[in-house]
Amino acid sequence: MVAENYRYVLKKVEEACARSGRDPKDVTLIAVSKTKPIEMIEEAMEAGARVFGENKVQELCDKYEQLPKDLHWHLIGHLQRNKVKYIVDKAELIHSVDSLKLAEEISKEALKKNVEVNILIEVNVAEEESKFGVSVEETPVLVEEIAKLPGIHIQGLMTIAPYTTDPEENRPVFRTLKKLAVDIKKKNIDNVCMDVLSMGMTGDYQVAVEEGATLVRVGTGIFGERNYEVI
Ligand SMILES: *Cc1c(COP(=O)(O)O)cnc(C)c1O
Repeated sequence: MVAENYRYVLKKVEEACARSGRDPKDVTLIAVSKTKPIEMIEEAMEAGARVFGENKVQELCDKYEQLPKDLHWHLIGHLQRNKVKYIVDKAELIHSVDSLKLAEEISKEALKKNVEVNILIEVNVAEEESKFGVSVEETPVLVEEIAKLPGIHIQGLMTIAPYTTDPEENRPVFRTLKKLAVDIKKKNIDNVCMDVLSMGMTGDYQVAVEEGATLVRVGTGIFGERNYEVI
């Protein structure tokens, strides 16, 4: 089932690329494996999945240890400063940086471990109170401040769009994130790349691709519903 689902989502991503004149090579499907067991990750691997997203540091580290080293792990969930030290050398990309203090901690640990850490700035485009992320207005200043730190590289922006049953409702959210990235890119800030846009989940990833997503984060659509009670 998981392998089939993965192939189906991949096909839908390719169709969305075709509709919007994009090269499918420019979009990476992240299989969001949070709460799901190793066996299911292995099923996704059979269908070709190599990039996995987790939202908890401990869970990412556990799975990282148990699975082959040619997989790519992305931390997509909120990151606490005291957990940074465990993750900087395991996550290929941290999607959820939303404060200078967190970026400073990442920079400090990157220097300690002698690694370069790639990050995205999480933007709360829809300004939902329940969500992490900086506002659209605050983003350019935060980018400029983080850009000065050693060992940390901003690759682009991430957003979690509101939950909706009609993906079209999130199109303006994705468009806003894309425009924000274009505006920041124009400033040509040293040590800042704005080429990565992480947006779109199970309910709305096709619309996100049409609006320029380069990373889509799909969990339920690949692994099925999550049951938080059993863990
Ligand atoms: C869980 C999660 C996803 C995947 O959500 P689905 O709706 O299951 O596809 C994507 N992004 C983030 C940040 C998540 O925490």
